[in-house]
Amino acid sequence: MAKRLQGIPATIFSEMSALAVRTGALNLGQGFPDQDGPDSVVEAAVAALRGGRNQYPPGPGVPELRQAVAAHQARHYGIELDPMSEVLVTTGATEAIAAAILALNDPGDEIIVLEPFYDSYVACIQMAGGIRRPVTLRAPDFRLDTAALRAAVTERTKAVLVNTPHNPTGTVLSREELEAIATVAVEHDLIAITDEVYEHLVFDGREHIPLCTLPGMWDRTVSISSAGKTFSFTGWKIGWATGPAGLVRAVESAKQWLTFSSGAPLQPAVAHALNEEAGYYGELRRELEEKRDLLCAGLTKLDMDVYVPEGTYFVTSDVSRYGYRDGLEFCLALPERAGVVAIPSQFFYDDAEEGRHKIRWAFCKETEILEEGIRRLAAADLHA
Ligand code: PMP
Ligand code: GLN
Repeated sequence: MAKRLQGIPATIFSEMSALAVRTGALNLGQGFPDQDGPDSVVEAAVAALRGGRNQYPPGPGVPELRQAVAAHQARHYGIELDPMSEVLVTTGATEAIAAAILALNDPGDEIIVLEPFYDSYVACIQMAGGIRRPVTLRAPDFRLDTAALRAAVTERTKAVLVNTPHNPTGTVLSREELEAIATVAVEHDLIAITDEVYEHLVFDGREHIPLCTLPGMWDRTVSISSAGKTFSFTGWKIGWATGPAGLVRAVESAKQWLTFSSGAPLQPAVAHALNEEAGYYGELRRELEEKRDLLCAGLTKLDMDVYVPEGTYFVTSDVSRYGYRDGLEFCLALPERAGVVAIPSQFFYDDAEEGRHKIRWAFCKETEILEEGIRRLAAADLHA
């Protein structure tokens, strides 16, 4: 295997989902909902499949989806986009992230990332020959440490990769935190790449604020999102990158050599979802908020510290008191002890101590599944 891939472990999500299948345990690990999104969106995909939308679509995306993404950005955030030059459709946010990192960084460039980081960032930065500079969101609040952000900048820093709402901590960056990032980005002339896939999954009346809407940020920001989380179709892998034409063109240059184009019949269906199904994610957010409360209440009764998230599918807890060497050991014991699978967040950290005993639990599951998971955890002896 080439050096660019060495040292990157297999994605922990696949490993833990395979463990769930093997042991028959409830999967509170990998973040995918167990109920599909709206029927009308499935019907739109079926119509596209039957209606001859099965050959290569335009590389940057079908016009109706690019228009729908632009309309969504205008409606929610007041961002006015030219659908033809400022919107690029990708194979999930994952491809947009990879293409943006490859397109905008040279080998040796440093990229600031919020730690714990979504695992594909680490792999993509390494494949691009870049160097990651973590800025750690620390328990219990997982807020942005502005001084640490400033300290992470060097003369080689090229970009800052910002994930909000944040996986795995559930932090939704506040306007003040985003302003701090914007100030640093402008001062040091950095590019910003934002991962906003959980943009609509924010709780307690909070608001997601796209970094590109802050003063000085539009010209330097590639904003990324996807239909997976917003419409509960995580397997469809339709995402998008938006921003000023020059940056989007650069991302498109990389995308054309990764996949050339993305799922033809799913694109019109996602356009339909964005145009017609805003009510779906309004409701999803309310349901997830209740599920968050349910799972957090259940975990709080156990011998662990629980950090209530502001958004996303996930809650983090600290299991130090159970006496395991680390979270992986805890998670490997969990199926047998309790019939439940969770994700050890240590894989999302460079700072081994900070990540050692953090566990990520997904609550994007049916209420009965969550209740059963909580029952099992409460009944089990989880101590090492
Ligand atoms: N970013 C984050 C933070 C995620 O949690 C995920 C998982 N869905 C992705 C990106 C990937 O999104 P997609 O499935 O659209 O590729
Ligand atoms: N985003 C999902 C999660 O965080 C998993 C996606 C994947 O498996 N790559 O659980």
